[in-house]
Amino acid sequence: MITTRFAPSPTGLLHLGHAYAALFAAMRGARFLVRIEDIDFTRCKPEYEAGIFEDLAWLGLSWDMPVLRQSMRMGAYSAALERLKSLGLIYPCFCTRAEIAAEIARAAEAPHGPEGPHYPGTCRALSYAQQAEKIAAGIPYALRLDTAKAAALAGDLYFEESGEGVTGRIKAEPQRFGDIVLARKDTPAAYHLAVVVDDAFQGVNLVTRGEDLFTATHIQRLLQALLGLPEPLYAHHRLILDESGKKFSKRDRAVTLASLRESGADPLEIMTRIGFMGCRDIS
Ligand code: GLU
Repeated sequence: MITTRFAPSPTGLLHLGHAYAALFAAMRGARFLVRIEDIDFTRCKPEYEAGIFEDLAWLGLSWDMPVLRQSMRMGAYSAALERLKSLGLIYPCFCTRAEIAAEIARAAEAPHGPEGPHYPGTCRALSYAQQAEKIAAGIPYALRLDTAKAAALAGDLYFEESGEGVTGRIKAEPQRFGDIVLARKDTPAAYHLAVVVDDAFQGVNLVTRGEDLFTATHIQRLLQALLGLPEPLYAHHRLILDESGKKFSKRDRAVTLASLRESGADPLEIMTRIGFMGCRDIS
């Protein structure tokens, strides 16, 4: 049975782009789940979470299991980090943003990935003794993946894409990211780690999301392989853009579902406006 999910972060009001994402996921899944991605405690707000449920209900969507909140899943993320640690694939990084930026500026040619310039690898070279000394001194640290080592261990990886852009079997290229952060200084898990752990936990076997997250799949596929998680299928959908061709932002009040609803729009008008023509496939 195909299981999909809609996984918004409660950091603002949902807009037309979210409506498309939620409808797309609901249409593609025989089982449709909702997950609240609220690991960033500094930006998530309960009123936005309440707004998500209100908007989904207004769109006529219902979901099949209790909602999963990432803020309740820290134990699972720590266990995943422990596994990566036991494989020797993560290391503590004590660098500040400013130090990283200075190091990148110094390098003649810093490689760039989908999330910006690669981390220059400064802390990868620290010995265990140096790491222990910094930890003992109370210097805050993030945990990074040694991506080159991890990719070598995992070997060639692929993912199966059946979305609205390129489709077929795609070779994962996790090295495009460099050493990503898996646990931040202020939060014990970062996006890529939390997503793969939770998709597996919830039995999501078709990951649907916007094509802005297409490249994320390259690194997430690697994490799945390292953690021994099942490989889901992927369907990335087109983005709903404003008149000037830009992505809607959570700050554009005019296109939030709440304000469209207040101004008298009905869900059918929303679906027409975003070009959503689909019915739920329950095969
Ligand atoms: N929480 C992410 C977002 O709101 C989506 C994560 C995902 O679908 O992988 O953009």
